[in-house]
Formats: sequence, structure tokens, C-alpha cells
Amino acid sequence: MSPASLRSIAVLTSGGDAPGMNAAVRAVVRTALDRSLDVYAVYEGYQGLVEGGDRIRKMGWEDVGGILHRGGTVIGTARSMRFKEREGRLEAAHNLAQREIDGLVVIGGDGSLTGADVLRSEWSDLLRELVEQGRLSPEQAERHAELRIVGMVGSIDNDMCGTDMTIGADTALHRITEAVDAIGSTASSHQRSFVVEVMGRRCGYLALMAAIATGADWVLIPEHPPMVDEWEELMCRRIRAGRHAGRRKSTVIVAEGARDRYGQPITGAHVQKILEERLGEDTRTTVLGHVQRGGAPSAFDRYLSTVLGHAAVEQLIAAAPGDEPQLIAVHEDRVARAPLAECVRRTRSVGDLIDAQKHDEAMALRGASFGDAYDVYRTLVRTLPHPRDPDLPRLKLAIVHAGGPAPGMNTAVRAAVRLILDRGHSALGVRNGFRGLIGGQIEELSWMSVHGWAPRGGAELGTNRVVPESRDLYDLAKQIEKHGIDGILMIGGWAGYQAAHRLYVERESFSAFNIPIACLPATIDNNLPGSDLSVGCDTALNAIVQAVDRIKQSAVASRRCFVVEVMGRHCGFLALMSGMASGSERVYLHEEGIKLDDLREDLANLVAGFRAGKRLGLMIRNENAHALYTTAFMCALFEEEGGELFDVRPAILGHLQQGGDPSPFDRIRATRLAARAVDYLITEAPKDPPGGGFVGFQSGKLTVTDLDLLPRLCDNKAQRPREQWWLALRPIARILARPGPTPKPPGAA
Ligand code: ADP
Repeated sequence: MSPASLRSIAVLTSGGDAPGMNAAVRAVVRTALDRSLDVYAVYEGYQGLVEGGDRIRKMGWEDVGGILHRGGTVIGTARSMRFKEREGRLEAAHNLAQREIDGLVVIGGDGSLTGADVLRSEWSDLLRELVEQGRLSPEQAERHAELRIVGMVGSIDNDMCGTDMTIGADTALHRITEAVDAIGSTASSHQRSFVVEVMGRRCGYLALMAAIATGADWVLIPEHPPMVDEWEELMCRRIRAGRHAGRRKSTVIVAEGARDRYGQPITGAHVQKILEERLGEDTRTTVLGHVQRGGAPSAFDRYLSTVLGHAAVEQLIAAAPGDEPQLIAVHEDRVARAPLAECVRRTRSVGDLIDAQKHDEAMALRGASFGDAYDVYRTLVRTLPHPRDPDLPRLKLAIVHAGGPAPGMNTAVRAAVRLILDRGHSALGVRNGFRGLIGGQIEELSWMSVHGWAPRGGAELGTNRVVPESRDLYDLAKQIEKHGIDGILMIGGWAGYQAAHRLYVERESFSAFNIPIACLPATIDNNLPGSDLSVGCDTALNAIVQAVDRIKQSAVASRRCFVVEVMGRHCGFLALMSGMASGSERVYLHEEGIKLDDLREDLANLVAGFRAGKRLGLMIRNENAHALYTTAFMCALFEEEGGELFDVRPAILGHLQQGGDPSPFDRIRATRLAARAVDYLITEAPKDPPGGGFVGFQSGKLTVTDLDLLPRLCDNKAQRPREQWWLALRPIARILARPGPTPKPPGAA
């Protein structure tokens, strides 16, 4: 079978539902239509495949409109006993072959993906049997000699090997974090303890990440049981010490599959009993249950599902006969492919290793970043730092912000302070950015001074966009000397990077600047080099996406087009990503500019769309997309030209994008980047000359880039990196937003 023979594909969601599945189905359907394939949705998972009839429906472009923001899966999911039997799979094969479908996209957990692989491996036998039974003609069987399969993992647990993230896990983390934050405020009012039980029978991802994100006091996960017999006593000692140190609440997060080192389950109820009996604490248990599955998908899950769905169809088209079925995965923050059967096998082996109490091996299969995250967490939740080595020189490391406020700044400061203290050094907090440093607003930060900062939005230390000028440098050097500062950690945005670079290049003139400097990217704009994502941009994206969901709902009774203006300065990241995550039909970026012809074409599309019965238009515009074609201008133009057909409203989202409590990703990213930055400062301090660098995540890896590369990596005029990885997503955004398949040139097939 040549690849070109693929004509029809089907998509189904199966197993447990996961937020983001709808976005994946939408991406599969629209990409397929754009590639001139017929595409079917199978309702109710494998059950629908077995039953056929109107459970397998041909989809059009608009059939997947308005589902992106919805939780669960609109095409339904079910567990199917019949599909587990060969007889059921025979019906499934019949239903597929009859409709000339020979590509199947399965979105589900490891059970569902196993099912897909079984169907594929039996395919030719099943077709032969159908021919023998006279239910399929030999020609039909010949035409569909092979079933191409591609899988995507929909699972809130993030429990699949071969992909760094599964569809739904980020949203589940949002639900857990919101709940634990909310419980935390009531718990501290009453000085109570709380035990929160979260999902994860075989996987501690949600529990561990939620513990990092919320600053919980103790976490129990399946892969890494407490390594001592008296773990209850250890936990109680920690919590007691926390109370003495001034904590008003204690939170323990328990994964549902948590167990002790002998494999005995540890339940929330058991932890509650221990805390009550041994500490005399008023303790409550909350089992979060299905709340974790529900609700609108997060911005990340919408983005992830969209790019995976698109890649799944491309994979089906590109697959050669006999190719092994692939899992469309995310690896190192990029779409990747991995052999499906192998991923399922490894995933199952983690469970077996946990059962066999081979915890180190189970942990290793989860990947290095899981282990690192666990180690960082263990340090952060200590009530006091480890005893310091008296022979070690005590460094004084100063923490300063610069740039606009970014959610997650406080999280990063908390992590940095505790990691600095834990390594035996002193942490100084600088108030009000570089202006504060010039003016000597510097104070020592203790372990407990950052207590409760993990979930807090804003910037407790204060931030501004001041970049020290020539006349400030002398005062700055004097303050560094006066306070004996041995290193600077700058947590902030563009202004902070400029300031750090300034200090770095002025070392020859001011010996005080001969100290290590680390920059940690924290800005909602995501306009910094050396990191694919900055701390704060995920929270901002979620704020935009939620606001746009509401704006769209407000338009139910009218025919209306919104022009939504988002922040980002001259960087279009927020505009493009929120456009993809909210289903906007057009995104305007400074990187591309706006031409009058573009506006004409967009207007013509709007008019055609509304004439054809559409009720809502959505355009997203970066705040600086064009100096003259402003949001007001565009609204006026569309309004005037749209006449009676539709009206136009601007929605300038403004500072709601900078506020809010940091999202789980931003908290986790802030914590991990802070750990890397502190490490860097301590390593560089004894060197001559010490280094300067900016930390980041690049292709999923923690990296440090030399500060002297900054000018080369940046477009200084536009204040953004010269290379921006996310610009490569524009074609996908365009395909999915277009109000119909790409028009084919005349004469094309
Ligand atoms: P998940 O996909 O979330 O792991 P399940 O394990 O319940 O969920 O699997 C979902 C469905 O996939 C099952 O109801 C069944 O129809 C199908 N399935 C699971 N395992 C197999 C298998 N070994 N062979 C065939 N079908 C399977």
C-alpha cells in the first residue's frame, strides 16, 4: 500500500477521560480535512467501534467548533469488554473496512493503546475472516490490507513512559493546586493539618508536583516510599519542628497508590490518624477524586493536544507499510515519536517494579527530571537547613528582581533562599530591584521569612524596570562591597538581563562586579534568550485563555467579532499561544507585522463567515503588532465594513495578565530554575574570574548560557531573542484556525 492511498481516518477517545481530549480531536479532524482526508469520529471509544452505525460519524470542519475549551471528551469514552474479545474486534474491523477507513488515531491510556496494537496486529486475519464470511469483498480487503495506528496518551496521571507529559496532567495539577491552596487558607486560619489524597495509582507525578507547587510539608508517592520503618515518626518530627518554626498549618499529600517500603498501602486515613494521635493536631482529610479530572483544560493542555493531534495525522500520512505504530509524544518540550508497543511495555514494567519493591529502578524509569524534582522538594520542605560545614566559606548571595512582575517570582525567591541556606550560605533580599540595590535596600532573608511564598502571586521583594546607568555603577559597586555580596541572582525580565550584562561588562572598571551573576528568566512576555519558556508566561496564558472563554460566552446572543489585545511587548508568544489555545481565527504578531492587504483579506473572511451563519469572530492581537493599525483602528475598520452583518468589540486584557497566583507549571519551573541558578552561583564563586550566565530550559533540559552572549542572541530593538522556537507553530495555528480546508490550487487532486 503506498502512503498516498490513505483516504479515510478515524479518531476515538478511550479509557478514562482527560481534559484536552477535545482539543486533540479538533486538531485531528481539521488537520485531516486540510490534508483532504475523510475523517470519522468514533463515539464512545472502542464500544462505538464495535457497534458501528451512527456511533461512527463523518466529521466536517464545524463539527469540532466550540469544543476546544470543554473538559472531558465530547465524543464520549467507554470501557468495552466486547473489544477485548476477538469477536468484538472482528466487528470493529468490519466497521472500519466498510467505511474505507485505514488509519486510526487512538487517544487513551495504556489499556486503550494496547487495544489499538492488538487490533492492528490481527488486522489481516480479521479481514480474511470477514471475506470468508462474505461480509467484505476480497477487493475491499485488498484495498485496506493494513491498518495504520497512531496513539496519543490521554491520562491525567502522567503515567506513560515515552512521553514527558500526557494530555490532561497539567489540568489535573491545576485542579489539585487550586484545591490545596484553598485548603491551605482555611487550614492556617485554624492551625490545622490537612491530608490531601490525589490520583496516581502507579505514578506519583501529580502528588510530587503538587507538593512542590504548594509547598506541602510531606508527600507520599508509589515510586519512592519512605525508606525507613519509622517513617510516621519522621514525618511527625518534621511537622512538629515546622510548627515550632512558626508554620500555622501542615499539609501532607498522598498519592492514591502510596505505599511503604514493604509494599503496604499508605492511605490518607492512616496519615490522618497518625497526625491526630501523635501530634494531637486537628486533622482533616480531603480526597480530591474526580475534581481532578474535571473542568476546562488548561492552556498547556489545549496547546499540547493541538500540536499532538496535528502531528498524529501527519504521522499516519507519512507511515510506510509495515511501520511500527507510533506514539505521538512530547519529549524535551518538542513533539516526538516513540514506538507505541514499547512505551506501553515500559509503562507496565514501572508498575511491576513498584510491586516488586524495586523502587530505584521504578524511579529511574520515570526519568532524571522526576528524581531531581524529588530531591529539590526534599530540601525545600525542611524546616531548617542542614547543619553547616564550619570549614566552608560562607557566601553572601543577593537576590534581586528587575522587569515587570511575573507570577512565580516569589516561588523562585523562596526556593533560592532555602537552597542557599541549606548549602551553608547567606541569602540577602534586595527590595525594589536595581534601584533598591543602588540605594542599599538590602536585608538578610531567613528560612522562615519566605514561608508561604510558593503559591503567592506578585513579587514580595518588589520589582521595576530600572537598568543601572553609568552614574549608578559607582553606588552599586559600593553597596556590593559594603554588604560583602559574593554573588547576584537576578530573577526577572528584559531589564534584569540588561542590568546583569551591564555589571558583567563593567568588571574591568569596577572590581566589585567581579562576582558570579545568574539570571533566572521571569517575565510573562517570554521574550528572553536561553530559555524556551520563562517563569510567569504559563500563568499569563491561562489568564488570557480564561478571559477569552468568558468573552466568547458573552457573545451568545449577538453576531459579534472581538479583537482581543494581549501583552508581550514586541514578542508574539502570548498572542500566538493564546490564539491556538482559545481557537482564535487570526493572530497578529509584531514579528509578522500587519499589511493593509492582510486586513482586507481578514475582513473578507469575516464577512463571508458571518454571511454563512457564523455568530462569533475572534482575533488576537499582540499589543505592539503594528504601530498604526492599532486595536482601535482594526475595530473601527471591521465595524464600518461589517455593516449590519456583525458588530465589533475590542477587549484589551491589560494587567490581569500579570497578576494572579502562579500556575503549577510556573511554580515548578521557578523552583527548578532557582535550584540550577543557586548551584551555578556557588560553583562559580571561587573561580577567577567567576562566570555570569542565564539559566533556562532548552529543549527540556536545564541549561546555563554565558552572559556575554546576550547581545548576540537578542534583537535589541525589538527586545526579544533572535531565534524564537514557537514561531514554527504558526502553520499549525493557521491550519486549525482557518474556517475551512486550505483551498487547493486549480487542477490539484
Ligand atoms: P486506559 O486506556 O485509560 O488504560 P482501560 O485499561 O480501561 O483504560 O482500557 C480502555 C479500553 O481499551 C478497554 O475497555 C478495552 O476496550 C480496551 N483494551 C484494554 N486492554 C486491551 C487489550 N489487552 N486488548 C484489547 N483491548 C483492550
